[in-house]
Amino acid sequence: MALTGLDIYKKLPQTNCGDCGVPTCLAFAMKLASGGASLDSCPHVSQEAKDALSEASAPPMREVTIGQGDNALKIGGEQVLFRHEKTFFKPCGFALVIDDSMEAAEVDSRLESLKKMRFERVGFELKTDLAALKCSSGDKSSFAGLVEKVKGACDLPLVLMSDDPDVMSAALDVCGTGKPLIASATSENSDAMAELAKKHQCPLVVCGSSVEELSGLTEKISKAGVKDLVLDSGSRDLSKTLENLVMMRRSALKKKFRPLGYPTITFPCQETQDEMLEAIHASVYVMKYGGIMVMNNLQPWNALPLFVLRQNIYTDPQRPMQVKEGFYEFASPGDSAPVLVTTNFSLTYFIVSSEIESSKRPAHLGIVDSEGLSTLTAWAAGKFTAEKIAAFIKKSGIEDKIKHRKVVIPGYVAQIKGELEEELDGWEVMVGPREASEIPGFLKSWQ
Ligand code: SF4
Repeated sequence: MALTGLDIYKKLPQTNCGDCGVPTCLAFAMKLASGGASLDSCPHVSQEAKDALSEASAPPMREVTIGQGDNALKIGGEQVLFRHEKTFFKPCGFALVIDDSMEAAEVDSRLESLKKMRFERVGFELKTDLAALKCSSGDKSSFAGLVEKVKGACDLPLVLMSDDPDVMSAALDVCGTGKPLIASATSENSDAMAELAKKHQCPLVVCGSSVEELSGLTEKISKAGVKDLVLDSGSRDLSKTLENLVMMRRSALKKKFRPLGYPTITFPCQETQDEMLEAIHASVYVMKYGGIMVMNNLQPWNALPLFVLRQNIYTDPQRPMQVKEGFYEFASPGDSAPVLVTTNFSLTYFIVSSEIESSKRPAHLGIVDSEGLSTLTAWAAGKFTAEKIAAFIKKSGIEDKIKHRKVVIPGYVAQIKGELEEELDGWEVMVGPREASEIPGFLKSWQ
């Protein structure tokens, strides 16, 4: 049973030193009990208390890492049911199925797609996260051969899909220390799959025919020593899967029900043969509460909207998306290229930079930190003022890259022209267009 705040308080040092960022030990204990703090934040807690409190201090949903290195995917660790309450932290992953019964040409084409299908949006790279390798043949050497081939051709983490422990064992031997996700442990094979997960130190998907059976299985496997689990509720129907995902998330976060406190995996690829429907199912799970979506079809027409949806859902709703402050160069600008400035609201940057790119004219675009506000809002809030722009230009080093001293400000803040000229000694301040769509014409007239 979960410990109360008072139970936890009795085991803390009770010195009220505040080093954990909370004024008193009692307040810290209450935060810990509600899942809002981590025991690691208290540097003075004894090992004995740590051991006793490990259950209470564990996050309500475990974070699970699949793969290793820069491409490793971390899922889970979420703290809220709704993103407006705080934010969602760990973006869900997309996996593309490669089956060992596919023709070699189809396998190659899917590998190519995994490598090439990448998009850039507001400074972030959007891509497929995992290769899901499925054994349909039942033949362990055929499956191990596929694993070997994919492992050599792409560096994404793997999901290994087979319910046969012998097949899985052969595939894991090929993977080495790559930490693939093993899918799946069921009521029939859970002991053998748990042994494999322990031996190879891999995360393990647990699949139940119902949420009740699933929670019993995770409890058993966790007691056997496998802690990194991923939940598959067993449903292959959109509405039932969604119902299960919501029930599992609520049980983990609201009831602190540990057997369901893990991230999830969903299989849109097994729910429909229709490409469009598959994308729709995946979009539902991105919103509630899929950790991984295993897809049979991921092509630019469906991948881009799904990746953008994921990016939007996993963006902190209380902080607008921002671009890093600094100067960005377009078309190899020389020392006579125009210098423009605007705010760091990502949408502003996205629109302005697109227009500069489409003009094919060289330019230096200065992005001033305005805490993610758009031009007029930032000016009204005192975040995009003459003082801030001048300070940014002086410290940016742009003066060493250009021989003129002209800066273009957005037309919406024409009123700061005089003030900015006072702040920037020797500079001429020019008022640019109000609308981004007029930027190409403005740049083409630049002398
Ligand atoms: Fe108490 Fe530890 Fe926080 Fe200090 S750091 S106030 S001892 S919980």
